[in-house]
Amino acid sequence: MISLGRSNEDFPLSADEQNSISFEDPHDEIPGSYVPQLGGVLAINWTFFFCGQAVEPHRIPGGGSRQALEIVESNITTQDGFEDWLATKANPRRDFEEIIAHELGHALGIAHACSPTEGAACDGVTNEALMRATAHGDGRGARLNADDRNAVRALYPEIGPVGPVVPAAATDLTVTAISQTELELRWRDRSNNENAFDVYERMVDSEFELLTTLDRNSTSLVIQNIPPETYRAYQVVARNNRGSSDPTPEAGATTLAEVAACLEDDDTLCLNDGRFRVEVRWETADRR
Ligand SMILES: [Zn+2]
Repeated sequence: MISLGRSNEDFPLSADEQNSISFEDPHDEIPGSYVPQLGGVLAINWTFFFCGQAVEPHRIPGGGSRQALEIVESNITTQDGFEDWLATKANPRRDFEEIIAHELGHALGIAHACSPTEGAACDGVTNEALMRATAHGDGRGARLNADDRNAVRALYPEIGPVGPVVPAAATDLTVTAISQTELELRWRDRSNNENAFDVYERMVDSEFELLTTLDRNSTSLVIQNIPPETYRAYQVVARNNRGSSDPTPEAGATTLAEVAACLEDDDTLCLNDGRFRVEVRWETADRR
């Protein structure tokens, strides 16, 4: 059987700030060798990222509130004996493409679509995926199928053209209490190349978190279902596929207080279950 190895934390290896392909396992990162008659691992991918409390994850464009860590380096190593595998092929260039593209798929974060030995068994669709655990080696090259495309789209959901520059930041963010449970945000759109506006919200004692994403050219938002007399602060960020603008300076407001219960008296009429209070004052014609 021919396996395409995955990233494996057990292998001691350090980053050197160079993305690379190492052929024929020169540093013996992959146990054993590839023997065409026996099969084995053809290649592995190493992907490096910093993690820990000091590392800020970033928002995934188009991915809602999901977050990710930045890839700082990615390396591919082919097993010793990989050349022997290629030498058995009718179209070794295309099979080489398949292996390298598969490992790049791992570098992008994609796991195996299916495997004959572990995880999900292969079906009619996943069996044709580039990210199938075993190489096809039939000259198809780096061909993606629907399952591969779905995997990429799940991890990198934003679509549309990539602009040359990040959008200009919005300005003049204001927040106004319009009821006991609603705040209205308004801002000026200063860019002409944004794909969306991200609205971030925080409470009195918390950090900003993504609240919602709005279409391009949006300039206002009414936020509902906030408790009465409750403070919220907001920032607005314009973004496109190139990146995000600076956030607006934060602006906040407190929702209105609940109105005191309506009490009827000689001059006051309570209507609609106390929701409206009507006070009447009048003077007679002779100013008696
Ligand atoms: Zn693999």
